Amino acid sequence: MSKGKVYLVGAGPGDYGLITLKGIDCIAKADIIIYDRLVNRDLLKSAKPGCAFVYVGKKSSKHIMAQEQINDTIAESAASGKIVVRLKGGDPFVFGRGGEEAELIYDQGIDFEIVPGVTSSIGGLAYAGIPVTHRDFASSFHVVTGHAKKDDSLDINWESLAKEKGTVVFLMGIGNIKHIAEMLISHGRAPETPVAFVSNATSYKQRTVRTNLGDAYECVHREAIKPPSLFVVGGVVSLSDKLGFYERKPLFGKTIILTRTRKKNSDLRKKIEELGGKTFELSTIDIKDKKDIGRVLIEKLTSRKYTHIALTSHNSVDIFFKNLIKEGFDFRKLAGVKIASVGKATSKAIMVYGLVPDIETSRSTGADLADVILEDIGNAGYENPSILFPCSEIASKSIEDAMKSARVDLDRVDLYTNTVNMAIKDELLDILVKEKIDYITFTSSSTVKYLVEILGRDRELIRGIKKVSIGSITSQTIRDLGFSVDMESDSASIDSMLAAILEDVKGDINDKKTETIKSE
Ligand code: SAH
Repeated sequence: MSKGKVYLVGAGPGDYGLITLKGIDCIAKADIIIYDRLVNRDLLKSAKPGCAFVYVGKKSSKHIMAQEQINDTIAESAASGKIVVRLKGGDPFVFGRGGEEAELIYDQGIDFEIVPGVTSSIGGLAYAGIPVTHRDFASSFHVVTGHAKKDDSLDINWESLAKEKGTVVFLMGIGNIKHIAEMLISHGRAPETPVAFVSNATSYKQRTVRTNLGDAYECVHREAIKPPSLFVVGGVVSLSDKLGFYERKPLFGKTIILTRTRKKNSDLRKKIEELGGKTFELSTIDIKDKKDIGRVLIEKLTSRKYTHIALTSHNSVDIFFKNLIKEGFDFRKLAGVKIASVGKATSKAIMVYGLVPDIETSRSTGADLADVILEDIGNAGYENPSILFPCSEIASKSIEDAMKSARVDLDRVDLYTNTVNMAIKDELLDILVKEKIDYITFTSSSTVKYLVEILGRDRELIRGIKKVSIGSITSQTIRDLGFSVDMESDSASIDSMLAAILEDVKGDINDKKTETIKSE
């Protein structure tokens, strides 16, 4: 078999968006990805189905995959013709033994490429508002390892480093901070020199702490600064007050679970992340189109004349239109049929297919939609009103009941099955146990029911998390299941949910401010 290829790829310092386009391409074509502890796991979601993942960086050293073992895995996989991506935090050649790995690959005659990445030593500082050079402060920079070799010595020319006027950035320096600070001072750097620690740079856990060189060691203990952290020495750190854009974002540091159905929440995810929040997207629902549903729909639409089509969810809209398109349906055949939508979000989904709803309810319940359709029927004076209602198999009967009592013909077609996605249970529990989650958003009653069902005996884990509901029906389901609703969005839309969260965060910040004023 032909020999494969190895890509040594820099994943960037943490923020998902800080990998290169080439890096993402490599991930997408990899057969096997060998990744480190500091790599953002979300990047792995771009891999193709069937790609194998090998994690080589657990902190407790017992589990660490020995460097030789890593090298063997890379060589063996490449030799069997596979595309291997060795994904490393930051830039692959800035510490972390990237150079050694590349040499070994070369020595074994394996084809390889290096894909550079944004190194934490520059990019991480940028997110803390610290420019690594600046005409007023530093015209050079040095990136230094603070990690001692086996004999405990740091192979550093302290003499020249202490005299250096440029910025000095230490990686892996927290464990040795006492020694580093002492050496810089004893070789002539002033104890008053400004310094900063930037921990978990470019992630939602980023934290910037400033002090001076003389206080650096004390500061690490006082502030409980832990790796991964950058230690920066030099006047540039004073700019972080002005330039620290990232930690100023309105949702910075907030963690939000999005219970989603299909891709539906991705808009919300993008918006939250733009505002600095961290999202965990979990599909609580497994949705499958019913067999032959396209043909069933075509048969119905061609064999009889409907006056209205009622659509009550984003998923119904997508599954309805996509299946018709797949069957080659000519949408001009719908001319004259009124489209009724249950709210702004559903209308938006409909308009993606080039159709504008004739009727829209402002409140997002089936009963409301039934009311407006009946009103329209009354106004328009149809002789034989007839409604097509394509929906989820678990959609409520409220529209059907309302039409029955008004003696209006309604044809319900279940488009898809809607089952609880137990496959996410481990991931969900892991997140709830390891992370401090601030909010959970619920965009429908089923997302609530299913989340609680998935949690089972562990349902109390979500008790203390603020619950954000998209509307009154969803809120009622949350209450019925024994939880309280902390926020309900004004209208049934993603933007409105986001506004509710922002409002709440603002309130929290103001609360904190009043507390400080009181205690002062
Ligand atoms: N190749 C990486 C560095 C690997 S060495 C790069 O180019 O960034 C690992 C050290 O890098 C950590 O101990 C820490 O000092 C630093 N580091 C990496 N990512 C970091 C981050 N997101 N925040 C703070 N420090 C980070």
